[in-house]
Amino acid sequence: MTSVDRVVVVVFDGLRPDMIAGRMPALEAFGQAATVFTGARSVFPSVTRVATSSLGSGQWPRGHGIVGNAMHQPQVLQGRALDTSAFGDLILARAAWGRVIGPQTLGEALAAAGRRMAVIHSGSAGSAFLCNPEVAANGGHWTFSIHGQEATQTPDAVRAAEERHGPLPKSGTPKHDQLAYAADLALAGALGEDGPDVVLIWLCEPDSTYHSHGLGAAETTAVMASADASFARILEAATQAPRGQRTAVMAVSDHGQITTTGHFEIETLLRADGFDARVRPEADTAIALTLGSSGEIRCLRDEAGLVPDLAAWMMARPEIGMVFARDDLLPLAPGALPLSAVNLDHARAPSLFYVMHSEDGPDHFGLPGRGLKTGGVAVGGGMHGGLNRHEMSTVLQLLLPGEPAGARDDRPCALPDIAPTILDLLGLPADAMAGHPLRPADKPAPAEVERLTAGSGDFHQVLERRRGAGGWVLDHGGRA
Ligand SMILES: [Zn+2]
Repeated sequence: MTSVDRVVVVVFDGLRPDMIAGRMPALEAFGQAATVFTGARSVFPSVTRVATSSLGSGQWPRGHGIVGNAMHQPQVLQGRALDTSAFGDLILARAAWGRVIGPQTLGEALAAAGRRMAVIHSGSAGSAFLCNPEVAANGGHWTFSIHGQEATQTPDAVRAAEERHGPLPKSGTPKHDQLAYAADLALAGALGEDGPDVVLIWLCEPDSTYHSHGLGAAETTAVMASADASFARILEAATQAPRGQRTAVMAVSDHGQITTTGHFEIETLLRADGFDARVRPEADTAIALTLGSSGEIRCLRDEAGLVPDLAAWMMARPEIGMVFARDDLLPLAPGALPLSAVNLDHARAPSLFYVMHSEDGPDHFGLPGRGLKTGGVAVGGGMHGGLNRHEMSTVLQLLLPGEPAGARDDRPCALPDIAPTILDLLGLPADAMAGHPLRPADKPAPAEVERLTAGSGDFHQVLERRRGAGGWVLDHGGRA
């Protein structure tokens, strides 16, 4: 293999690998030249900031501690969940916790070796933060956020972009302008001959438009074409000689999406059955919860007393597909699976975690994958967060200079493997990370496959996972 001195990573937020063909010609052609990891998966819960933290640290959620997009953390904030999309909330979290994601981030590993990392982020400010949380302390690193100078720890990067490319695009969906702005910025300097060693470009689509317009909508097809056009420009600049001959390019997504077919009013229904549960807990509220395709149920008091009834309540609801319990609470929740089974056993994890029911059947566009949700989008919009195979399957493609074209690699791998792969490509050790470097030339042995089941009464759930070099990779879960 030719030696690599730069890695360019392009993230397509929410992109389903089965939706590339026919919609994204540049990415499709890239896949013909690159190694395509067909066994690549997200982490659980399959939401953006949990995924970003895995990408930015090489850890599963059990190692980085971002256990949800929203997470009730009373020692940081009372009255509402910590919102990991919000820059200010992450600054508060750091003040309370010390480190936001640990034990070491990709940015820190690079900085320790004197390498520079740039992040060009067109999604939420929180996701931008989590790509390189200690960016300001990592010499020469910078993170651009599309949300402005106040939304990043390196405001000079935003100021320089505004001076060169004009005002930041206004919010609204589909986000065509954000995609173009991110590519403009990458081409203007980050991908130059003397640019950073790692350039991470986060494209906020098709996630936003999947959510708001639906997976198969005309607007979605159009924004996927825009994301593809930005990718084509980035790829051309990244592979331009002479440095392009020493550049590895990765195309990845953080999770997929499925179509929502119904809403489940979990807070109202819990309260109607006598549980003191709230999304926005008051001073004496017993149970805090979060919403989406999945969510946390966190007992703020009387945990041992409440968990048995809460678990039984969820298992009796056909709308709920899976129930997980923190490992120490498992004896109180017969029928639940342990959070350790989905790599979510961190000290910040909640008492219980629910996943809404989903199926593989087609949605109203004819695309496979549909399910229920408790919040986040209007019915018919796309959603993610659960363990449906179409939420878990991700794009992971790696183009190395001098490697033969068109390889398909079906080993189990996941988001925590990306940071170690970046370090490995640059000749740096990745031993501190849970993930494992992906080396296309290696031919791993056939993967160990496991089917975990649990149930109580009429409730039966199953979790399918495969053992990868970096841990258990989650393929699919739901009602048995
Ligand atoms: Zn995402």
